[in-house]
Amino acid sequence: MKFGTKAIHAGVEPEPTTGAIMTPIFQTSTYVQEGLGKPRQGYEYSRTKNPTRTPLESNLAALENGKHGLCFASGMSATDAVMKTLKPGDEIIACNDIYGGTYRLITKVYEPLGLKPKFVAMGDLANVEAAITSNTKLIWAETPTNPLLSIIDIAELAKVAKKHNVLLCVDNTFATPYLQNPLDLGADLVMHSATKYLGGHSDVVMGALVTSSDELHEQLAFIQNSCGAVPSPNDCFLMLRGIKTLHIRMDRHELNGKAVAEFLNNHDKVDKVYWIGLPSHKGHDIVKKQMRGFGGMVSFTLKGNSMDEAKQLMESLKVFALGESLGGVESLCTHPATMTHASIPEEEREARGLKQTLIRLSVGIEDADDLVEDLRQAIETITRVTA
Ligand SMILES: *Cc1c(COP(=O)(O)O)cnc(C)c1O
Repeated sequence: MKFGTKAIHAGVEPEPTTGAIMTPIFQTSTYVQEGLGKPRQGYEYSRTKNPTRTPLESNLAALENGKHGLCFASGMSATDAVMKTLKPGDEIIACNDIYGGTYRLITKVYEPLGLKPKFVAMGDLANVEAAITSNTKLIWAETPTNPLLSIIDIAELAKVAKKHNVLLCVDNTFATPYLQNPLDLGADLVMHSATKYLGGHSDVVMGALVTSSDELHEQLAFIQNSCGAVPSPNDCFLMLRGIKTLHIRMDRHELNGKAVAEFLNNHDKVDKVYWIGLPSHKGHDIVKKQMRGFGGMVSFTLKGNSMDEAKQLMESLKVFALGESLGGVESLCTHPATMTHASIPEEEREARGLKQTLIRLSVGIEDADDLVEDLRQAIETITRVTA
C-alpha cells in the first residue's frame, strides 16, 4: 500500500456493530468482562488499552514501516518512556542541535538521576564514534533539527550504532513519515511529537514511538502502562482524523515553504536562510538520499543581528501568528532564543548558531502569495525604521 492509502486506511476498520466508518471515541475507562479473567478482545482498562487508541497505534506503525506503535500524552512523555529504559551510569549521545525540551529532560531530569549525556555535532560521525564507550546505551538523533534544520545521515549513523551495539532513536517530528522513514534506514526506534504535522491542526498534544523490535516494544508498552502518560480517546480520534490528510498537507507545506525560502533568500535584509530544499543548504545531498521531499520549515537570520529588528519584524506579521509549535495548517513564527530554546544557556545557544535574530517559520497551507506578501511588508517596517 502506498502512503496516502495507508494514512487513510491502515489500522482502521469500520466499527463492527454499526458499520460506522469513523473510529468511535471510546470514552470509557473500563470494560465489562465476560467472566472472571475473561476480558473481551483484550480490553480491561483504558490506561493499558483503548479501542480508539489501538487503531491509531497501528496506523502510526504502518506509516513508519514499523511493527509496533505506541501513543503518549505528549512528545515529551514519549521521549521520557525511552529514557526510562536506561539505568544510572548509562551514557546517551545526543545531537547538539536538539529540541530544547529534549535537552531539558535529559540534563535537568535524567542527569541528576544518574544518566550521563554527551551532546555532539552529528554532521560529522567521527564525533559520535569518539564519544562512544562501553557504557553508551542510546544514541538520540533529530534530523532535520530544530531550528537550524541541520541534517544527519541516518543510514551512516545506524551503521555506527549497530557496530557498537547501541540503540538508535530518531526524533522524526520535522520530517514526518511522509518524507522520511528512519526504521528503513536502520534506526531501532522512531519518536514523534504528533502534536505537530501528524495532528496538523494545532488542537492536540500527543507523542508516539514506533519500532519493529518485539523486545523493545514490550519494554516500552510496559513503561506506557506503568507510568500512564497515555492520550485521551478524544485526542486519539482527532489524531486519526488529522493523519488522513497528512500527505496532502505536506505537499502544500512544501510548495509554500519553497516560495517563502526563495523570497527570503533573495532579500537583501536577510542574512542566512535555512530550508532543506535549497541546493546551498548544508546536507542537501543527504536530504535527497534519505528524504522524499523538503517540507515547510524555514528559518532565517537578519543582517546586522539586531534583536530590536527581529522583534519589530515578528510583531509586524499579520498572517503568520507569533507562537510556539509548528506543523499546523496555519503559518506560525517563533523566536527560538526567547521561546522554544530559552532553556538552553545563552553562551551555548550562540555556540550552536542560534543567533538572536534567528526566526523560525512553520509555513502553513494558506496561499503562498499572501505568506510572501506578509513577510515582505513586515521586513519593510524594519527597513523604514533603520532608514
Ligand atoms: C514539539 C517537539 C517535541 C516535544 O513534543 P510535545 O508534543 O510538545 O511534548 C520533541 N521534538 C521536537 C522536534 C518537537 O518539535
